[in-house]
Amino acid sequence: MINYPTISNSVEVLRPTQVEIDLSRLTANYHALQRHVSPAAVMPILKANAYGHGLVEVARHLQSLGAPYLGVAFLEEGILLREAGVTTPILVLGGIIGNQVPLFLAHDLTLTASSIEKLGQIEAAARAMGVRAKVHLKIDTGMERIGVHYYSAEALLEASLACTHFEVEGIFSHFANADAADPAYSQLQLDRFHGVLEFYARRGLPPPPLRHMANSAALARFPAAHFDMVRAGLLLYGVYPSAAVPRAIPVRPALSWKSRVVYFKVVQPHHPVSYGSTWQSDHPVRLVTVPVGYGDGYFRALSNRAEVIIRGRRYPVVGNVCMDQFMVNIEWQTAYNGDEVILLGEVEGGAAVTVEELADWAGTVPWEILTNINTRVPRVYREE
Ligand SMILES: *Cc1c(COP(=O)(O)O)cnc(C)c1O
Repeated sequence: MINYPTISNSVEVLRPTQVEIDLSRLTANYHALQRHVSPAAVMPILKANAYGHGLVEVARHLQSLGAPYLGVAFLEEGILLREAGVTTPILVLGGIIGNQVPLFLAHDLTLTASSIEKLGQIEAAARAMGVRAKVHLKIDTGMERIGVHYYSAEALLEASLACTHFEVEGIFSHFANADAADPAYSQLQLDRFHGVLEFYARRGLPPPPLRHMANSAALARFPAAHFDMVRAGLLLYGVYPSAAVPRAIPVRPALSWKSRVVYFKVVQPHHPVSYGSTWQSDHPVRLVTVPVGYGDGYFRALSNRAEVIIRGRRYPVVGNVCMDQFMVNIEWQTAYNGDEVILLGEVEGGAAVTVEELADWAGTVPWEILTNINTRVPRVYREE
């Protein structure tokens, strides 16, 4: 009789490809960031499925660590967290459309507001629902994305003082180039933000209790940008934004991505490999096939560029990455069906493939690598 696997006990049998999240590392990273920015607080940023790490699982974990605030990009991410029972305050960082306001209020989500018109919509909805809304004002100091321009912010701040059905809990801005070698533009943005905050001193009023501006790069490089809270994304997950950011905070990657060899073959000289026939060898080689592709977020741009780890050694991806499979050249080394293949991660004390490397190979930034690992790849969580 055949014992068919059940979904509950053998995810790995069903799909030999997994993303593993080391929650202990997330804990250590969170604490390392906290120590670095103290007395400022850390708001973990969980947008885009917590940078691929799993929105709900990561939020629950950070809530258990006592994170004071969580940040997401979109309303629906906030609602998902509330429906999963997460009770930590949540700031939705993105822009809002007026008819979304009641949903924010119904789920106790903090709104980002950057115009007098939006403040009016929030005030009206909060009054109608009999609740008190929480608002963070968004100031554009040089990103030209969302937010009221720093040079016309005064009217918004003024209007925010008059509202009675919401509380201005925070005011924030966002750096455009905090990971660039030259800090000049960041300094300019910081000066502009300080200029906006002077409004409160001029009125003899305390500023909103949560002033925040720093993303990962800025929190690592510019202590003057810590204010009351920092918004930590990439660094929380243990990845550095760019070479311009000194590796002064001891964080380690929390995510690894593994699969298993599903096929082994010997390929004859001048027999090209995969779609487009972009690669061939001039001598016989052993190739293995890995059941992962661009449909999982292993970018086609990694074709003929990336490397993976099998049996402790790094080997090159050859030929074009397909939707669900790619090939690896192990030359004349040994590998067997079922052997582990590390696409992203490390062998203890040995070889590693980092998010930064994958980003370089694919011609992109680390954020895009992490956030594109498709949800069809099962996530497993470990904690020591
Ligand atoms: C994504 C984002 C962050 C986090 O950026 P990292 O560089 O990943 O730390 C912070 N603030 C805002 C407004 C964001 O959109």
